[in-house]
Amino acid sequence: MANLPQQLIEHPLAHHLLVELVPGIRRLVATNQGPMTGPGTNTYIIGSEQLAVLDPGPLDAAHVQELMAAGHICWVIVTHTHPDHSPNARALADLTGAQLIGMPGPEDGHQDKSFVPDVALIDGYQLVTPEFTLQAVHTPGHVANHFCFWHERSGFMFTGDHVMQGATVVIIPPSGDMKDYVASVEKLAQFPIVALAPGHGHLMGQAQEYLSALIAHRLAREAKIIAAMARVQQPLTLAELTPLAYGDVDVSLHAIAAYSLWAHLIKLEKEGRVRQYKESHWLFDQAHWQLAESVVKFNVKP
Ligand SMILES: [Zn+2]
Repeated sequence: MANLPQQLIEHPLAHHLLVELVPGIRRLVATNQGPMTGPGTNTYIIGSEQLAVLDPGPLDAAHVQELMAAGHICWVIVTHTHPDHSPNARALADLTGAQLIGMPGPEDGHQDKSFVPDVALIDGYQLVTPEFTLQAVHTPGHVANHFCFWHERSGFMFTGDHVMQGATVVIIPPSGDMKDYVASVEKLAQFPIVALAPGHGHLMGQAQEYLSALIAHRLAREAKIIAAMARVQQPLTLAELTPLAYGDVDVSLHAIAAYSLWAHLIKLEKEGRVRQYKESHWLFDQAHWQLAESVVKFNVKP
């Protein structure tokens, strides 16, 4: 297992500072720091001659100028179209003539609709340049149009918001999907990753251990949800179930936790382990959820 030296992982995440992580990969942190974005969105600059810029961040003319100072930008790529990742892409492409690469966002009201790619990604797409190859890995879960990018030469996997450093990824249905998310984490684990390069936070070494822990964390929460439902044995709304399944999480975070719970319940419903009463997902706090009978029998000890 390849490990990153500590000094590589802990390069400064300061703003306005172009940092070389390894030869041919640099990082510039956008100035949109906050509770959901950590120090800000990581913009990666890949290559030395012809550059690919990954996730240029929210609209910010100064960030565009700093990226353009890095060299000749030929490609602007986005992992997904949440407003902290892609809105700067169009301006950067217009100013540099770069090709815009990504997948348009789903219609869920949370996407940057200004993003219209020149190249619409599909799983396995390869950007082949004289210097490097970047392979697109479709990783739905955080959002349906999310892609990670594999840079084989360095062993870097650029993970956008699929895997974040120092924070749990938020999964918001219907465009976020917990079942897809877990499958997409398993998909990344197939690559011989030296470093996970997230959209927020530091590089992470020991990728396989980290990805395994991510899956274990989600499945442990799932087990807690099933146990809480088994204890109560009656249909519950999200609002009723959240404190039961997230008793270990601070109450101030329960509003966000309710989204994750919803995502878990949809996964369990798809797997036939949970049933939902009421048609509409949009009135999600009105819907009631109950364990499927076979699951109740399995979980309730006589
Ligand atoms: Zn996102």
